[in-house]
Amino acid sequence: MDKLTVRDLDAAGKRVFVRVDFNVPLQDGKVTDDSRIRAALPTIRHLQAQGARVILASHLGRPDGKVSDSLRLRPVGARLSQLLGRTIPVTGDALGVGTQDAINRLRNGEMLLLENLRFHAEEEKNDPEFAKALAAYADVYVNDAFGTAHRAHASTVGIAKLLPSYAGLLMEKEIEHLSMLLEHPGRPFAAIIGGAKVSDKIKVLKNLLDKVDVMVIGGGMANTFLLAQGKPVGKSLAEPDRVEDARAILAAAEEKGVRIVLPVDVVVAKEVTRGTEYKTIPAEKVPASWHIVDLGKQTLANIEEALADVQTVLWNGPLGVFEIPSFSHGTKAIARFLAAKAEQGTKVVVGGGDSVAAITHQGLADKMTHISTGGGASLEFLEGRELPGITVLRDRTTEGTK
Ligand code: ADP
Ligand code: MG
Repeated sequence: MDKLTVRDLDAAGKRVFVRVDFNVPLQDGKVTDDSRIRAALPTIRHLQAQGARVILASHLGRPDGKVSDSLRLRPVGARLSQLLGRTIPVTGDALGVGTQDAINRLRNGEMLLLENLRFHAEEEKNDPEFAKALAAYADVYVNDAFGTAHRAHASTVGIAKLLPSYAGLLMEKEIEHLSMLLEHPGRPFAAIIGGAKVSDKIKVLKNLLDKVDVMVIGGGMANTFLLAQGKPVGKSLAEPDRVEDARAILAAAEEKGVRIVLPVDVVVAKEVTRGTEYKTIPAEKVPASWHIVDLGKQTLANIEEALADVQTVLWNGPLGVFEIPSFSHGTKAIARFLAAKAEQGTKVVVGGGDSVAAITHQGLADKMTHISTGGGASLEFLEGRELPGITVLRDRTTEGTK
């Protein structure tokens, strides 16, 4: 990777500001999925082992610049403390005299967690004074918050310009796997793109067309492609104003020699709810008052055949309304298929909040080569865009190590 990382840093005795992404789901004051906390542990342990004084900082939810008791980081601190086997204090506020005192009292190898950065509106505005106040806490800056790297905020971009800055180990891992896909994937390379809408992922589809050998399109967004093929989709989720985009993608794929795999049979349901009537039918026979909610068996067989000898797979977006068990078969079958592929040596990278949730729920997350912790950030990366939180970190080639 061309960015300096924590491995290039001698952190002993230094005060290190580490931006982490602890934006985790909470219920009744408890963390319900600690994946993002666990993902930051390698960087935290690395710095701790070196004897750094670590100031952890994150946002949680969308408090919009106001203190919100339900979005305090205390439950996160509690989970982190459990994982590390030592108590990690959480400050009452990201700013203030008490916080400054607590930082001054940190000894080598100790750490604390600042309260939710987004209790201050200045965070999301990338306010220079706020960035300066955060920078004043530390000697160096480490960004391990890949999930927030597509946002230019005070704690992701402003502060990085004020302190010597380094990528954390999670940030490094995310960049390595995602840039592998775009720059040097093992071939054949297939992308499976699903999820709700074409409009959310049109830029990813376009960018990937230049990279992949096979592109599978499923989920709600496939319905717009079925419309483009002249097939009726009944009451299914679809975007008629995106049919032209879908046609353009199909034409470009043909020109570039990319094999497109679309549904040939689908599960349709009377309503998109539990307990409703449903059946599998050919994709060109969707009745006017039904909804497409999942892929059919023939389509799954076609996908497995098209992916039989792939070396690299990117999966983004569920292939059906997976939240409803009867309509989760396609998504689950592909998850199992990819887990088996990964065990045979295929590189399988999964991104997207809902896709990752589906795989985690199935207990297959550990089997994949890489599960991205950033939904929006991984999408923007795969669109080929520069992420401001990454761009601002120092390049290995132009700047020396420290
Ligand atoms: P990700 O977060 O993995 O990027 P998206 O947010 O794009 O995925 O899409 C996930 C949503 O897409 C899920 O809520 C799922 O129910 C929905 N979805 C998938 N297939 C369909 C479909 N055929 N009709 C309606 N919604 C669908
Ligand atoms: Mg989503």
